[in-house]
Amino acid sequence: MSDCLFCKIVEGEIPARVEAETEHILAFHDINPVAPVHVLLVPKQHVADSAAELTAEDGPLLGELFELAARIAAANELDEGWRVVTNVGPAAGQTIFHLHFHLMGGWEAPQP
Ligand code: AMP
Ligand code: ZN
Repeated sequence: MSDCLFCKIVEGEIPARVEAETEHILAFHDINPVAPVHVLLVPKQHVADSAAELTAEDGPLLGELFELAARIAAANELDEGWRVVTNVGPAAGQTIFHLHFHLMGGWEAPQP
């Protein structure tokens, strides 16, 4: 999508601090982190605006994404635990309407 920020990051038109990638997923650091480690996992293709549009056909893509999330968590030594969140819609805080998942961790204490 031409006016989509995350499509532009995937295309390299807007810079990002890339953490890792697979064939179908790009992982880069959130510009406004809310945890010591805060990485966004983004399908390279604009397959959906949010998780509300996902179907069973997206299963392999999501498996690839979560495998990458676990690899990034291990690389960042998030051995005590980590969290994956996806926001659907403005009331949930979604601001970028290109499917993405927040990987967060590295806290000093257990989170509520
Ligand atoms: P959400 O609010 O769930 O749609 O998540 C969008 C996230 O994208 C927010 O946490 C923003 O801080 C982050 N964000 C916005 N612009 C950029 C950018 N240029 N590079 C990296 N992260 C960004
Ligand atoms: Zn997009």
